[in-house]
Amino acid sequence: MLPTGLTIAGSDSCGGAGIQADIKTFSALGVYGMSAITAITAQNTQGVTDIRELDTAIIRAQIDAIYTDISVGAVKIGMLSSTEIIQTVAEGLKSHQAHNIVLDPVMISKSGSHLLRPDAVTALKSHLIPLARVVTPNLHEAAELVGFAVDDYKKMEEAARRIHAMGAGHVVVKGGHLSGAACDVVFDGYTFNYLENERIDTKHTHGTGCTFSSAIAAGLAQKMSLDESIRRAKVFITMAIRHGFDLGHGVGPTHHFY
Ligand code: PLP
Repeated sequence: MLPTGLTIAGSDSCGGAGIQADIKTFSALGVYGMSAITAITAQNTQGVTDIRELDTAIIRAQIDAIYTDISVGAVKIGMLSSTEIIQTVAEGLKSHQAHNIVLDPVMISKSGSHLLRPDAVTALKSHLIPLARVVTPNLHEAAELVGFAVDDYKKMEEAARRIHAMGAGHVVVKGGHLSGAACDVVFDGYTFNYLENERIDTKHTHGTGCTFSSAIAAGLAQKMSLDESIRRAKVFITMAIRHGFDLGHGVGPTHHFY
């Protein structure tokens, strides 16, 4: 049996982020990918031109259809868009006793579009963070979750501590937006670990967060430890950024070499 991974996230029509990036990542790492789509974005390398949230009934039906038939090794959660969708996903996952949940608290795209309504951050904190085995905010998302600017390593540690206290198992605060080496802070509730990689000079980074979090979920589906899954995901995203390419006229996607 192949390991299985489920992504609960939004669709990105240009294929670099969202559901498409997640399933490509699962495939590249040898995991069978499945999806429950929460919203559809019309976007290209230059930005998001439109968004439609799906009806909560069809979101719940996708989750139920999968869990009532198939054993799910790990779940990656990405774009959720609204409080109602967050509640639906949380209820669905709880009712099926989902495990190995990787929560990427997607909020704003690099091009500046809201992928989560600002009023839904509270619901994310109270309904989904407590279900997550690991949460993977970038600096901006960490700041929105904790209520202060997260712009150096001390604040990344403090943010990780606070997000852990919201009920997450582990927290990875991604430092990709700081200058210098691309260094993430990993907190397991006891100790801080720093995960460092060289910074790659490219503008083609569309979908990095989606790819990183689904690579962690792929590792969990393959029964790797969380620590191993995070380390392999870091190697995988660094490679994918190195192979990011010039698609369209704007910010191209990361790309995974097979
Ligand atoms: N579109 C969708 C559907 C996403 O889920 C995400 C990120 O999570 C993005 C776009 C943003 O991609 P980026 O900010 O890497 O360009």
